[in-house]
Amino acid sequence: MLGSSVDIAIVGAGIAGLSAASALRQHNVDFSLLEASHRIGGRAYTEEVMPGLPLDLGCHWLHSADLNPFVEIAGRHGFHYDSSRKPGAVFAGGDWIGPDQRNEIRRLHDRNHKQMAALPEDGGDHAVVDMTDRDSPWTALIDYEVSLDMAHDPDAVSVRDVMSYRRTGEDWPVKEGFGALIARCLGDVPVTLNAAVERIDWSGPKVRLVTQRGEVSAKKVIVTTSTGILGSGDIRFDPQLPEWKNEAISSLPLGNHNRIYLIFDRDVFGEEAPDRVTVMDGDGAPISLDIRPFGYNIVHGMTGGRFADWLERAGMEASADFAMEKLKEAYGSSITRHVVRTLATAWRGDPWVKGAYAAAQPGQSHQRSLLARPIDDCLYFAGEACSPNSLATAHGAYWSGIEAAEAAGGSLT
Ligand SMILES: Cc1cc2nc3c(=O)[nH]c(=O)nc-3n(C[C@H](O)[C@H](O)[C@H](O)COP(=O)(O)OP(=O)(O)OC[C@H]3O[C@@H](n4cnc5c(N)ncnc54)[C@H](O)[C@@H]3O)c2cc1C
Repeated sequence: MLGSSVDIAIVGAGIAGLSAASALRQHNVDFSLLEASHRIGGRAYTEEVMPGLPLDLGCHWLHSADLNPFVEIAGRHGFHYDSSRKPGAVFAGGDWIGPDQRNEIRRLHDRNHKQMAALPEDGGDHAVVDMTDRDSPWTALIDYEVSLDMAHDPDAVSVRDVMSYRRTGEDWPVKEGFGALIARCLGDVPVTLNAAVERIDWSGPKVRLVTQRGEVSAKKVIVTTSTGILGSGDIRFDPQLPEWKNEAISSLPLGNHNRIYLIFDRDVFGEEAPDRVTVMDGDGAPISLDIRPFGYNIVHGMTGGRFADWLERAGMEASADFAMEKLKEAYGSSITRHVVRTLATAWRGDPWVKGAYAAAQPGQSHQRSLLARPIDDCLYFAGEACSPNSLATAHGAYWSGIEAAEAAGGSLT
């Protein structure tokens, strides 16, 4: 609440801010949660674009489901997820690929993984591009997958960062929307909306958080905004953050990842359609298209890295056209006749995030723990970029919020 004096102020009501607030509430710590936007959730956001059609604009998959706390939480709140997806199909060189090419791709994956895993513990680091096969006809496909996982192209990502991610191979989409799940399970804490924090003055015994609508003072602050926001200077820190913290922020830049939805008025694919089609033909990057997930009459495409930035700048219509052209390459030009609506996200342009998620630049994976490190037992940091091994995920953000709340709340007593 603006005008109040609390034990802990939290900046940002995305997953990390909401989980921090829930943890503080459980420990009866007095807190104020300030959110710049008109809604909670941040990068967890489901929009019901038509009655009964919930589309995730941000997180959608329960990544590494075997260790993901949201699997149990989803079940408890009556949400459904798909743990039984069929293998995808690849359309390349004007045709659907067969078992031999599929094996080639699998072998390429294994080779790349082995090479990256061989990086000695105490050795240096490399960009992913330097430790993956560049000569295979399937390199563009693997690069595209890296750009989705890390939101950056392989030349801009640390191998150590990629390898530190705890991947179990189980990624389950949420039927009613992951954003809706977050709102349901974490949305019952008090939040002050439309309250962008512009200045954090931590020069005195109490921290002052200044918004256009008033101030909050607190003994400690948990900052959960993205590295895109932290690096932009939109929040002024007085005194300035120390050099090592600014270095951590700039070493973990936000990349981009966008979703493109094509909404059909009927099923044009039939029962036998694969769950996912990746099209590698024609101009531009490859794209993976999920076909009729959960039986919804939609196709859901994903772009990542520089190409996502480029397409986002080209606009929503150009994004939808790109996905439609790719679909036509695989299924023929009449397939899009029944598209009635399209939608594309634009995370780089989101003023409260400024990108999709963070990846460590080559040589910088150690910066995640520095980003998470508190300053003077007064400024605490949380959010997806702080997570060393569940990076770029909803559950990583969730755990980091709880950790920061426990550290900040614990040190109050
Ligand atoms: C397109 C896309 C797809 C993704 N897919 C998946 C997926 O399938 N599975 C998965 O696990 N993860 C996925 N993620 C990642 C996941 O969504 C994020 O890791 C997570 O939501 C980040 O939460 P956060 O709390 O760290 O940050 P945020 O969600 O960015 O929360 C920070 C909050 O701070 C607010 N804020 C900003 N500036 C200020 C200010 N000055 N004052 C007050 N408040 C401010 C913002 O509005 C925001 O609400 C995806 C992300 C994107 C963008």
